[in-house]
Amino acid sequence: MPRVRRTIQDLTAPDMQGRGYVRNGDLKAADYIRSRFRQLNLQPLTPNYTQAFLLDVNTFPGQLKLKLRSKTGHFAFPLFGGYHHLRPGVDFIASPNSGSGRVGGFCSAAVVTQLDTTVFSDLAAQQRFLQKPLHRNGIAISARYTRQISTLPIALRQHLESAAFMLTIVPKLTASLAPTQSQQPRLDVLESAWTKATTATHGKESPSVALRVDAELKQNYQAQNLVAYIPGQIRPDSFLVVTAHYDHLGTMGKHAYFPGANDNASGTAMLLELAAFYARAENKPAYSVVFIAFGAEEAGLIGSSFFVNHPLVPLDRIRFLVNLDLLGTGSEGVTVVNGRELPGQFQLLQRLNEARQAVPSLAARGRAANSDHFPFSERGVPAFFLYTRGGIAAYHDVQDRAETLPLTAFASVFVLISDFLNALGAHPISK
Ligand SMILES: [Zn+2]
Repeated sequence: MPRVRRTIQDLTAPDMQGRGYVRNGDLKAADYIRSRFRQLNLQPLTPNYTQAFLLDVNTFPGQLKLKLRSKTGHFAFPLFGGYHHLRPGVDFIASPNSGSGRVGGFCSAAVVTQLDTTVFSDLAAQQRFLQKPLHRNGIAISARYTRQISTLPIALRQHLESAAFMLTIVPKLTASLAPTQSQQPRLDVLESAWTKATTATHGKESPSVALRVDAELKQNYQAQNLVAYIPGQIRPDSFLVVTAHYDHLGTMGKHAYFPGANDNASGTAMLLELAAFYARAENKPAYSVVFIAFGAEEAGLIGSSFFVNHPLVPLDRIRFLVNLDLLGTGSEGVTVVNGRELPGQFQLLQRLNEARQAVPSLAARGRAANSDHFPFSERGVPAFFLYTRGGIAAYHDVQDRAETLPLTAFASVFVLISDFLNALGAHPISK
């Protein structure tokens, strides 16, 4: 376990920049995995274990600021030059497809108005809304209504996009990545922080806001999968595959970064532990075991989709694939995506779990496009995706940190997966 903790600490360290696309975060993480593969003497399938691919991704490398201007003569709140600052990462984040922009300043601030939600049902309200110019002001909308925006007539949607900026007020900050960039700056603001800030500065009036977003849409950014294998002793042309994505959400602004301890330093650490296990002379497998650390999962399963379109081992020679993502908790057990699709293999997993008394509960789920197993499943490769349940609630936020990751079921999941792979042909004795 000390090595597991160290792996997770290394991958979540500030210099890894959240393993995203700003300040070479993903490249640093890839280098780290490459060096671990090398230390274990794993065999490459390509030079430097590398399978490169390109992606488009919107990033936030520069300034990210949001402040509410206090009413004149209001001294009750701690002020920084007349503004109440919200903290990036903690109180607000950039929406995935936010554009760049700068609104408000020392002498001017833009007013933000709450979207009148009767526009979703009332034609008269729609007309009123269209007549109000928005280009100097912003719109705030509760996350409850954002889905309905796509149902609005095009003219209204265009009018919304003409606003100087858009704030989505959310109950929890959950970051993600987008391959495109909108014209206007867009921020997700935590409901509690917004309520507190607006009450402190404006009471019931429309708050005036100053903000700055430096967004950069990176096009044809080169990322990579890292692929290594241990040749099978008996059937080297049959493959068992272990996968985990090493990328995460990167940074927002100059200081906020997403450590991604549970998502997915935990699964990457598990992959490296399994690689270390099968690399030992006494555990050399009967079938070849392939280890793939995927890039760009958070950007939309880009690395794994690229792999199935450019497979480095024939997909029909993959006997089974185990994908590892979110393995840092476990007080409520483990969920197995595709467990319902593959009842035979799921029963095997259950039997092994009972024999070992490994995890308190194994729950089977149907198919889900929620991690890197999915592109393989879609191509007919039998695959499970395992994740742990319970413990921390941090997810796609700055709180997903190594220090608070409980790793409750980590050791038992390791035993379970190695037993499972052994039973499927990883162990020489079983064949
Ligand atoms: Zn994720």
